[in-house]
Amino acid sequence: MLLLGAGHAQLAVLAALGREHMPGAQVTLVTTHERQLYSGMVPGVVARRFQVEDAAIPLAPLVQRAGATLRIGRAVAIDPGARAVTLADGARIEFDVLSINTGPSLDRDRIAGAREHALFVRPIESFVEFWQRTRRLAHERPLAVVVVGNGAAGFELTLSVRHDLGPRASVAMISDGPLLPAYPEAVRERGTRALKRANVQVLPGLCTAVSARHVEIGPMRVACDVPILAIGSDPPTWLAGSGLALDAAGFVRVGATLQSASHPHVFATGDVSVRDDDKHPRSGVYAVRAGPALALNLRRFVAGGELQPHRPPPRSLNLLSLGDGRAIASWGEWSAQGRLMGWWKDHIDRSFIARYRAP
Ligand SMILES: Cc1cc2nc3c(=O)[nH]c(=O)nc-3n(C[C@H](O)[C@H](O)[C@H](O)COP(=O)(O)OP(=O)(O)OC[C@H]3O[C@@H](n4cnc5c(N)ncnc54)[C@H](O)[C@@H]3O)c2cc1C
Repeated sequence: MLLLGAGHAQLAVLAALGREHMPGAQVTLVTTHERQLYSGMVPGVVARRFQVEDAAIPLAPLVQRAGATLRIGRAVAIDPGARAVTLADGARIEFDVLSINTGPSLDRDRIAGAREHALFVRPIESFVEFWQRTRRLAHERPLAVVVVGNGAAGFELTLSVRHDLGPRASVAMISDGPLLPAYPEAVRERGTRALKRANVQVLPGLCTAVSARHVEIGPMRVACDVPILAIGSDPPTWLAGSGLALDAAGFVRVGATLQSASHPHVFATGDVSVRDDDKHPRSGVYAVRAGPALALNLRRFVAGGELQPHRPPPRSLNLLSLGDGRAIASWGEWSAQGRLMGWWKDHIDRSFIARYRAP
C-alpha cells in the first residue's frame, strides 16, 4: 500500500497503523520532507510566536511505529492502470492500493513575473525558509511587503508579517473581492477592523504582475520588495493525464468512501480531492476529519471488507489568528474574538502536533 503525501489524513492513517499494524500489507509513505510542517501554525511561526520546530511533526518515528517504510521523494506522475507512481528522481514505485493526500499546489505562472519574484505560501517548507531570509533582510532596511490573497491564509499571514516586522515595514494586502469571502459578514467586519488597527493598507483589485520592485494591479504600480502569494489552491499538474477522474479544475474526484470515482484502488483525501457528493470547503479541518475514515477504509479495502461512507461535518469551527496571540473564532454565523480565542486556537494546534509526536 502506498501512502502519497504526509497530509493531515495520512498522519491519522499512520497513527492508526501504529496502534494496530495491517497484517500482510507492506506500507510505504512517499513524501517530500522528513517532517510535516503544520500549516495552521505557519502564521504563528511568521509572527515569531512559535519556533519552526514547534510546528513540525517528524515523520520517521511515526512511520516506524506504523511498521511502514519512509521514502523521501516527489511524485511527478501516476499511472493508476499500471499501478505505479514515478518520482522526480526517476524511481518507479508500484502499489496495489494508493492513497493520495498531497495537498494542493500553486500555479507559479498565474501571475506574470511571480515565478521569479514572489514568495509562494506553498510548498510550506520553502515558504518558511524564505521568510526567515526575509526577516534577516528586514533587519538591514525597512521592507515593503504585499500579500496577494484575501482568503484565510492571506489574512493571517498579513497580520503575522506586520507583527514580525513591526511598524518600520510597510504592509499591504491585495484583495480582488470582499475580504475573507468564505466567512460570514460579522467575521469580515472583524477582519477589516483588525487590518486597519494593524495599519495594513488593503488594495482592491486583481494583481496582474509582479516584478523585483513592484506589484501591479492593472495599470497601478505599488512599490513592493516582498510579494507573498496566497492565492488559493490549484491541483498538482501531475494529475492531468493520469487517467484518474478529475473535476473541471483538475482535482481528484472521490465518493463517500474516499475512493477515486474512476479507480476504486485509489483513495484521495484533503485538498487534492473533491467529493462528488459533498462540495465542502478546502481546509485543514476537513482533511483532519477525513483521517479516521481513511484509516478504516484502507484497512477494510485490503482485508476485503465493506467500506464505510465518510460524512464531512456540515460546518466547522474556524479560528483566524490575528498575529498577536488573539484570534477570531467563528461557527456558522456566530463569531467572537480576543485573547481567549487565540489561546483556544493555540491549544487546538499544539494538541494536533502533540498527537502525532507522542509515543
Ligand atoms: C499559511 C496557511 C495557513 C493555514 N491555516 C489553516 C488553518 O488554520 N486551518 C485550516 O483548516 N486550514 C488552514 N490552511 C489550509 C490548509 O493548509 C490546507 O487546507 C491543508 O494543508 C490541506 O491539507 P492536506 O492534508 O490536503 O495536505 P497538506 O497538509 O498540504 O499535506 C500535503 C503533504 O503532501 C506532501 N506532498 C506534496 N506534493 C507531493 C508530491 N508530489 N509527492 C509526494 N508528496 C507530496 C507534502 O510534503 C505534505 O507532506 C492554511 C493554509 C496556509 C497556506
